[in-house]
Amino acid sequence: MGHGWVFQHDNDPKHTAKAKKEWIKKKHIKPKPQNAITIAVSSRALFNMDREQDIYEQQGMEDYLKYQIQHEIEPFAPGPAFPFIKAVEAVNTRLRELYPDSEELFDVVLMTSNHAHVGLRLINSINHYQLFIERFSYHANLYLSADSLKVREAIDEGIAAATVFSPGKITELSETQLRVAFDGDAVLFSDESEIIYKAHGLDKFYEHEKAHENKPLDHGPLKGFLEALGKLQQKFYAKGQRLDCPIRTYLVTARSAASSGTRALKTLRSWGLETDEALFLAGAPKGPMLEKIRPHIFFDDQMFHVEGATELGTVAAHVPYGISQKIQSKTARDVKKDMPAKQLE
Ligand SMILES: [Mg+2]
Repeated sequence: MGHGWVFQHDNDPKHTAKAKKEWIKKKHIKPKPQNAITIAVSSRALFNMDREQDIYEQQGMEDYLKYQIQHEIEPFAPGPAFPFIKAVEAVNTRLRELYPDSEELFDVVLMTSNHAHVGLRLINSINHYQLFIERFSYHANLYLSADSLKVREAIDEGIAAATVFSPGKITELSETQLRVAFDGDAVLFSDESEIIYKAHGLDKFYEHEKAHENKPLDHGPLKGFLEALGKLQQKFYAKGQRLDCPIRTYLVTARSAASSGTRALKTLRSWGLETDEALFLAGAPKGPMLEKIRPHIFFDDQMFHVEGATELGTVAAHVPYGISQKIQSKTARDVKKDMPAKQLE
């Protein structure tokens, strides 16, 4: 179990590379492993802080802090990203068994701009659930937050990021296998084909995808994370654990298997990547399929797919990238409305 808890205060000038080095030296903490896959998660994505958020919004900062101190020893309830982080840690346990000296692990980092008083309650919550969160970081392979504005900023900086939404009902998830589901267009892939579809309709889209079948799509914001998962999967395959691999990935796309799906698969192959399963829904709703797969997290760029997934019990994460964000400005506004600008992380 790690010791050096640090809660990153966003925009804090003290968090320079130099300050970070000094801090590491002072705390005698080993520098972050270079090969780790860093997942940065905000406190409100990891834990359910709805009640605290209400107090902050209705009664203000002072009452909010007072409440947090009064409830300091009471752990927060799990939030939407909690099962995903637990599954990530289960993968780490397996990796450590197979490769005791390897740095190629997940490194989970808590991002928060919360007040130090709240920090104590966070530490207590992390200890309560025996989570292995110990380092802070400036670089993340994946950033999960409940704050859509911060996620948008991260996406604009080229970081794989998503806003996590709680499911409408509780679904039991695997504790031994991390399952991650990705949409294709504007998530793993760029939005170049989505642009054709929005501008010219479905028929032109099919025509275009058929004509460009052998031209790989450009990469989207979550491609790097699939790649990182693939790298870890290879480590299990190398030890003969392909069938028992604790990581499973899924492509869940509205493309159809018969036509436009080919370009998606050929693109993944051109990158040297694959998902364990590729599901082509040909425009059918994604929620029912995800309900069967039971992923710990599902990434999509369109809010209606995120909503469809959460309604049927899947933790879904919105990736604010690509043409859909501009065209569906109403949806984007709705996201913003649900997420007050002045919120606590
Ligand atoms: Mg999409």
